[in-house]
Amino acid sequence: MALRHLLRRAWMRHRHAEEYDGEQRMARTADVVIIGGGVVGASVAYHLAARGQKQVLVLDRAGQGLGSTGRATGGFRAQFSTRVNVQLSLLARDKLATFRDEVGTDPGYRPYGYLFLASTHDQLAALQAAVTVQQDAGLRDVKIVAPGEVADLNPAVPRDAAIGGTYSPRDGFIRPLEILRGYLGAAQRLGARVEFAAARCIVESGRVAAVRTDAETISTRCVVNAAGPWAGAVAAEAGVDLPVRPVKRQVAVTYPTTLLPEQMPMTIFVDDGFHLRVRDGRVLLLWPADLPSDDPFDTTFDVAWLDGLLSRATAHIPLLRGVEIDRAACWAGLYEMSPDRHAVLGAAPGVQGLYLANGSSGHGVMHAPALGQLAAECVLDGAATTIDVHALRPARFAEGRLNPESGVL
Ligand SMILES: Cc1cc2nc3c(=O)[nH]c(=O)nc-3n(C[C@H](O)[C@H](O)[C@H](O)COP(=O)(O)OP(=O)(O)OC[C@H]3O[C@@H](n4cnc5c(N)ncnc54)[C@H](O)[C@@H]3O)c2cc1C
Repeated sequence: MALRHLLRRAWMRHRHAEEYDGEQRMARTADVVIIGGGVVGASVAYHLAARGQKQVLVLDRAGQGLGSTGRATGGFRAQFSTRVNVQLSLLARDKLATFRDEVGTDPGYRPYGYLFLASTHDQLAALQAAVTVQQDAGLRDVKIVAPGEVADLNPAVPRDAAIGGTYSPRDGFIRPLEILRGYLGAAQRLGARVEFAAARCIVESGRVAAVRTDAETISTRCVVNAAGPWAGAVAAEAGVDLPVRPVKRQVAVTYPTTLLPEQMPMTIFVDDGFHLRVRDGRVLLLWPADLPSDDPFDTTFDVAWLDGLLSRATAHIPLLRGVEIDRAACWAGLYEMSPDRHAVLGAAPGVQGLYLANGSSGHGVMHAPALGQLAAECVLDGAATTIDVHALRPARFAEGRLNPESGVL
């Protein structure tokens, strides 16, 4: 009898302790929690805080820049084939121009241009069609390039390498980690908090109720999913189907060389997607290939890819024959791919208080300044207003109305 009594008292103490602990853990609240502190989450945090939103909390499960943002090469372009992507780039470009004054760091924007090269008439026709979309969307300085002009824009390209192309001089390069650092720092100065913990969104009765980490439950009515390639999993935990999946991309890096100038435009061969640029005195070589792996989130560098890359590199740019690759400097990372390669932006269908800023499909750094502002408008105003982002609505997948995807741009 006495033993039963003692056990019961111990159990009651345990329950009270759990309840008390639970109350303690529920004690923290945030008005908006952003899951993911890469460049997109950082931009959302800054834009919310800059508009006066209090109690913004960014949670990232890794260190700063350890997601895709730290793996990006830093290309910036407005040459896309859909109106919405061109407009995202133009908005982002305007914001990059005032970034240093507004945010406090140099985003490293260098307008060295993007040169797209076609080797077939179909490819050229697709580039020309894209130029029509671009000009209609407000990109004034893009032009169609004749074969003879290619060498003026990039002398390393052989004269017979292309039947034409397109060029935009204000495309160019940015510094992904500086943009991330700038937005996170500015958001913090405006009162936002940035913490490192894995988080999941808790939904009750169809609306956001909290965010849970290993250590605590934070009460909130608003969550922004900015989890990059992991966004599908974060959405699934909230009961939302978000078709964003990771796709591995690799970058080969030469030893320091003066073979090609830093000011060379990003040069893209539409035929096979091979492209190259110069960064910090090294040539970065990229080629999108299937890289099979059992783990979809694997980011180990696949050395076998180098053979295919190098044969393409020397075929397109003979000057690179004999160039040595610094294998220790090469890297792999993940694109956050949506089915139509366009971002997914807005309120999540079916869960009140959950917003999506995902799926940029390899353009997330360049579009982050725009996406952050537009996501803040979604949260604070109920809809994005600066540009028309209907094409990015999360519901388009369920509706079966995807954006056109040219396969070229
Ligand atoms: C090789 C390569 C080259 C690229 N080049 C360019 C380029 O030239 N230009 C360009 O614009 N883009 C480029 N990109 C794409 C660009 O990197 C991404 O579009 C961009 O970084 C996406 O930013 P993000 O903030 O959405 O994602 P991320 O930077 O991946 O941030 C997401 C964050 O979410 C965190 N997270 C995930 N799950 C959780 C969780 N449950 N709880 C807490 N935190 C979580 C992760 O730790 C991560 O830090 C490139 C990508 C690669 C791989």
